[in-house]
Amino acid sequence: MLEVLKLDVLNPATEEVVATVPAATPQDVDAAVARAARAQEQWAATAPADRARLLRRFAAQVDDHLEELAQLEVREAGHLIGNARWEAGNVRDLLDFSAGGVERLSGRQIPVPGGLNVTLLEPLGVVGVIAPWNFPMPIAAWGTAPALAAGNAVILKPAETTPLTALRLAELALAAGLPEGLFQVLPGEGAVAGSALVEHPGVAKIVFTGSTRVGKQIMARCADRVKRLTLELGGKSPNIVFADADVEAAALATPMSYLDNSGQDCCARTRVLVQRSVYDRFLETVAPAIESVVVGDPADEKTQMGPLISRAQLDRVRSFVTPGDGIHGTAPEGPGFWFPPTLLTDVDPDAPVAAEEVFGPVAVVIPFEDEADAIRLANATEYGLSGSIWTRDVGRALRVSQAVRAGNLSVNSHSSVRYWTPFGGYKQSGLGRELGPDALHAFTETKNVFISTEGPAQ
Ligand code: NAD
Repeated sequence: MLEVLKLDVLNPATEEVVATVPAATPQDVDAAVARAARAQEQWAATAPADRARLLRRFAAQVDDHLEELAQLEVREAGHLIGNARWEAGNVRDLLDFSAGGVERLSGRQIPVPGGLNVTLLEPLGVVGVIAPWNFPMPIAAWGTAPALAAGNAVILKPAETTPLTALRLAELALAAGLPEGLFQVLPGEGAVAGSALVEHPGVAKIVFTGSTRVGKQIMARCADRVKRLTLELGGKSPNIVFADADVEAAALATPMSYLDNSGQDCCARTRVLVQRSVYDRFLETVAPAIESVVVGDPADEKTQMGPLISRAQLDRVRSFVTPGDGIHGTAPEGPGFWFPPTLLTDVDPDAPVAAEEVFGPVAVVIPFEDEADAIRLANATEYGLSGSIWTRDVGRALRVSQAVRAGNLSVNSHSSVRYWTPFGGYKQSGLGRELGPDALHAFTETKNVFISTEGPAQ
């Protein structure tokens, strides 16, 4: 008899096993795609108002179970309880927003002599969403909600370490009345279940969020079939502080601009670029703010930073930096996967810790001379996901926003993500955009139909 492979889900704050779930095999993926294809045919033929109503019911189910989902996210991902509540709310809101999109999705009539020309926006079919562990709930929803709204079925493969909230979302979808098979969650290993989804001829599009390394492999494999693809990949984002900014405000906002989710945030501002004339003043303000970050139990509302996701992630962070280096705070001893908040000064901009995505609570601070130097340093990376610009000069804010090659910039803020504004990366941070008013279009094909009014030639 074949042994069923299982995934142990650990609480990263305690290392206790929270649950064990079966890992999907390629045969499970085959069966799921067949079920999804049947459900999708029925779904695509459902009137827009009815599709929208069901998605709103799904949103209402999420709202009714918001606290349960948030607590589950704390246990499986080590997220702070306040953040986890925000994440469940983000799923609910995106489902509602996408439901509105169903009712607004329509093609165009383009004038053409001799007939009628119309464009049809057709669903793609079955969409595979492959999600990472760092924001398991919202990122699962960013691919799923607009894909469903546009008339597709979705098979979601969550990360190995964080399948639980995704599985619960699938149950809530069924409770809301979504057709059986329309939204399925298949926990499993990337190289097995994820790979089978990417290779499957019945899957029309892959939405992949994860590392640039795996994203490149998936892109190469999608090329064989010209499979549609959205990629949301890594980042090494700049946080640029000009001397004309409110330097204290910028310094005090800096810790949470890269320590949110213990630094396991694709938008983390991990390269802090500070104009030399205010560099010392900036460090004097930021140091006590980092040293006093409260690190510990993520279920405690007073905690400001929780654990890393896994032993493997902790080892990765330690391969870049030793705990206790630079300006740093404290962290519990263990059990659990803990690393102190760290800000490194006097770092060569080309050193691995300054150039590569660490994906932990670690940033570097680098001085710059003038605006041109700041732009040069900001762009000196293969990534282009996010960034912040701190200045009181509106002309400079615009100039630098236009010059920095990244998909999501914030001025005098480090907030990046709203479900109703577009999100995605330049360069090796990704391909395509999620969220925002056009999100549904990434899940349709445009067909052009010309109907001649001239009749057959006599
Ligand atoms: P990862 O690339 O290791 O894994 C992501 C997902 O891909 C997981 O579900 C994994 O099982 C699956 N996978 C792995 N190998 C696969 C394969 N060969 N075929 C198909 N699927 C496979 O990434 P991670 O460590 O889970 O997540 C962290 C990364 O995600 C970071 O680089 C982070 O920047 C990035 N990220 C990007 C965004 C964004 O929106 N740009 C958002 C969150 C995270």
